[in-house]
Amino acid sequence: MQTCEVCRTPFTWKQVTKSLLAAYKPISCRTCGNRYKVQFLSRVLASLLVFGPIFMAILFSRPISTQMLIFVAFIVLPSVFVALPYLIRYRIA
Ligand SMILES: [Zn+2]
Repeated sequence: MQTCEVCRTPFTWKQVTKSLLAAYKPISCRTCGNRYKVQFLSRVLASLLVFGPIFMAILFSRPISTQMLIFVAFIVLPSVFVALPYLIRYRIA
C-alpha cells in the first residue's frame, strides 16, 4: 500500500477502495491532511483490470459459457477488487 510522501502514514485499503468507487476521488492523508490524486496510468490500469476480464470472457467463450461468466464475476473481479488498492498509485495534488 502506498504511504503518504510527507509523513509516511500508509493509506488504508478502505480509503483507497472508497476513492476508486467514487470515480477516483482524491484521498486526504489521515495524519497530515495532504491531498492525493490517482495517477493517470493507475486509472488506465484499473480500467484494464476490471473491464479486461469481462471482455476476454465475452470474446473467447463462444458460445458464452455460464461457467466462464460465473468465474469472472465471482473469482476474477473480487480478486481484482482486493488487489487494486495495492497497485494504484497516487501523487500529491
Ligand atoms: Zn501525511
